[in-house]
Amino acid sequence: MNSKILSLVICLMSVTESWAATPKYIFYFIGDGMGLGPIMVTEAYNRTVLNNTEHLQMLQFPVTALATSYSANRHITDSAAAGTALSTGSKTNNSMLGVTPDSLPTFSVAKLLKENGYGVAIATTVTLNDATPAAFYGHAPSRKHYYETGKGIIDSGYDFFAGYNLLSRNNNKGEETDLYDRIKKAGYTFATGKEEFETVKNHDKIVYLNKPNGQGHCGYTVDSLGNENFNVPYLTQTCLNHLQRVSPNKFFMMIEGGNIDWIAHANDPGVVKSILDFDAGVKIAYEFYKQHPDETLIIVTADHNTGGLTFGVKGNKRVTLKNLDYQKVSISRFQEYCKNLQKTGESILWEDMKTYIKDNLGLYGAIEVDEKDDKMIKESFDKTFNQKNVEDVKTLYTTYNNFIADVFSVFNRYTGIGWTTTGHTGDFTPVFAIGAGAEIFNGVNNNIDIPKKIAAAAHLNF
Ligand SMILES: [Zn+2]
Repeated sequence: MNSKILSLVICLMSVTESWAATPKYIFYFIGDGMGLGPIMVTEAYNRTVLNNTEHLQMLQFPVTALATSYSANRHITDSAAAGTALSTGSKTNNSMLGVTPDSLPTFSVAKLLKENGYGVAIATTVTLNDATPAAFYGHAPSRKHYYETGKGIIDSGYDFFAGYNLLSRNNNKGEETDLYDRIKKAGYTFATGKEEFETVKNHDKIVYLNKPNGQGHCGYTVDSLGNENFNVPYLTQTCLNHLQRVSPNKFFMMIEGGNIDWIAHANDPGVVKSILDFDAGVKIAYEFYKQHPDETLIIVTADHNTGGLTFGVKGNKRVTLKNLDYQKVSISRFQEYCKNLQKTGESILWEDMKTYIKDNLGLYGAIEVDEKDDKMIKESFDKTFNQKNVEDVKTLYTTYNNFIADVFSVFNRYTGIGWTTTGHTGDFTPVFAIGAGAEIFNGVNNNIDIPKKIAAAAHLNF
């Protein structure tokens, strides 16, 4: 190519670039722990049990790509390093949040957009200063420094926050001021629960918390916690309502499906219901996109895979996803049930437990239990409740007794799904996108590329 033609091509490319539509409305969905395996299982449930002829909403987007999720110091990331990557475009070490490996603060794409006139909302189904949401406003050498990361809300200037609660309200390291008071002084109104929110929803800057429910997060979809708890569609709609009021011309929201990760850490197949809930939130953004197709960008991704869920498990080659319809309780809820029984001090009878399992998991009812597993489950029951010399199983967010672990391992096996870990895995994460600038997400992304591409789509230097 001679130099005249080359410069003409470059000139044309830059004209096309400046013509590319700039998204005014950006939705960034992060399914915490929502790897490709869990999405595949949810899609199969959607197709074969719910009989939906359409794919999950996120799978309908024209851009379907991958991302790598490794952190600065590990093949397998945690949510702090991954959140930092997805928010600030910087790799950091596991457990570090919004800082580089040498503890220098990094800069979030949410902040960049705020400084460029976008209204910003951050929402999650878990605690608001947990790693993923906090990576969009906070900075701390450890994700466990909740007070420190929570303070990031004060300087963020963002318009709306929603989540279960804020941890470490009172700093135990000598600073005298209550975190909530400091955030209030910065101009935010707190609302706890839907009723209270109704009375303050016309305020400009709001921190909106789920009513305490004893779960430590907004509740798992499989437990049917009722209307009082936030789910992903509710959070998406609430952020949308707020941003359309305070910043109707330009806005950005990050919505995290945080308890997808929590339930997957427990190897609980109820994760499928949590992903369906997440997808219902994506659908709300998609409905908005249909009204503003040239001005909206939706990106859906995950920070990592949790649990390594997939089809195929030792001892069972068949997949029976219909079993998931018999599950009425999460592992956490089952644990609560056992704890409450134990608190009464009365002996727990196998027949009663069997009825509970039948009513809440279908085992011994719609799902036949074979002789070998029946024997194993009964022995496990006896060891856990009568001999009481068995240690509980501890995963990152849930502790449960061995009996529950055994019952769920049978339930998982009969369903045909297997788990490789109660931690995270290092496999590829999904990236789905639609709208203005979506095509630049095509291909294999490094997770740090994603916020950079969001900024590039908005024609901002990052
Ligand atoms: Zn996790």
